[in-house]
Amino acid sequence: MSAITLSGVVKQYPGGHVAVRNLDLTIPDGSFTCLLGPSGCGKTTTLRMIAGLEQPTAGEIRVGDRVLDAVERGVYVPPEKRGMGLVFQNYALWPHLTVLRNVEFGLRMRKVPAAQRRERAMEALRKVRVAECADRYPSQLSGGQQQRVALARMLAVDPAVLLLDEPLSNLDARLRLEMRTELKRIHDETGATVVFVTHDQMEAMTMATHVAVMNEGELQQVAPPVEMYERPGNRFVAEFVGSPPMNVVGVAEPLGGLAGSLLRYVEKRAGLAAPGCVGVRPEALRLAAGPDAPPPDAWAHEVAVETVLPAGASWTVQLRADDTELFAVTHEDPGVAPGDTVRCWARPDRLHVFAAD
Ligand code: ADP
Ligand code: MG
Repeated sequence: MSAITLSGVVKQYPGGHVAVRNLDLTIPDGSFTCLLGPSGCGKTTTLRMIAGLEQPTAGEIRVGDRVLDAVERGVYVPPEKRGMGLVFQNYALWPHLTVLRNVEFGLRMRKVPAAQRRERAMEALRKVRVAECADRYPSQLSGGQQQRVALARMLAVDPAVLLLDEPLSNLDARLRLEMRTELKRIHDETGATVVFVTHDQMEAMTMATHVAVMNEGELQQVAPPVEMYERPGNRFVAEFVGSPPMNVVGVAEPLGGLAGSLLRYVEKRAGLAAPGCVGVRPEALRLAAGPDAPPPDAWAHEVAVETVLPAGASWTVQLRADDTELFAVTHEDPGVAPGDTVRCWARPDRLHVFAAD
């Protein structure tokens, strides 16, 4: 069993900066869990603590029943005894070793007999589809191939836990997409518990079975991607997950205009008590142009069309009412132009209510 449990984990770096605050997180056995959050929120620190490369200032880390860190009891298991595979952002391969020898390296460190090393290294290279590069040197490979070799080096030791820190961030868009599929396939094949750090919400949403969103060293929410998207737990998650981001309108005061209309609507129709702000995803914000009328039970308000950005498969429409700017995304030509006045609307179940902050 390779569930990873962090309980009350704190990391304060020498100099005083608290990078991780009181983290309680369970990473389910066999899951593909993404740690997601903006740069500097403590993702790498968290991963390095799981790996044993950093020691927590307080708290406990376990894998299954095995305690790896327990600060108060003085327990600390060093990285090489944790049985985890690591691939970090700068996935340095040994430049003077061939691809095969690079992959064999980890096995040699683990004292795997020579006869088995070659076989296991080749199998790992086949898994990530670079077996034909076995006799080349890293400098003779493309960035994508080097990244695959780094993955093979990790897979060869067959770890039950794979820790990956933004391993795709140096690849171009196409390769990144390809490697996402590969990583998912590898996860399915090995059944390993994967912890994958990224600041890219699309990457997290497409690969993860579970997403853990962090901000400023604190865990915000843990949920499967669809749930995270449909029921964000707070305003930060709502605005961080989704592209373009959710429209969030502050409605704390009894206001006029669009904000006031939203406030009155969620209180009366959706039966929600005084919120701090109301959110609506761009694709849930619909436009009623020409003779189309919003459904009678929907929230609707008059807005001005500011810009229309066609992007082939979708259109992004920038709208304004008073001081409020909103974005709508449609998958058919919205049939509106800058300068038009239209009604925008949303169904009650597509409105999200959050506390102020
Ligand atoms: P992320 O991976 O989410 O971008 P990090 O975990 O790398 O974030 O960093 C979290 C915070 O801790 C940042 O403010 C960073 O500057 C700080 N930090 C990271 N490593 C160290 C270190 N070795 N010493 C001091 N501060 C650090
Ligand atoms: Mg990082």
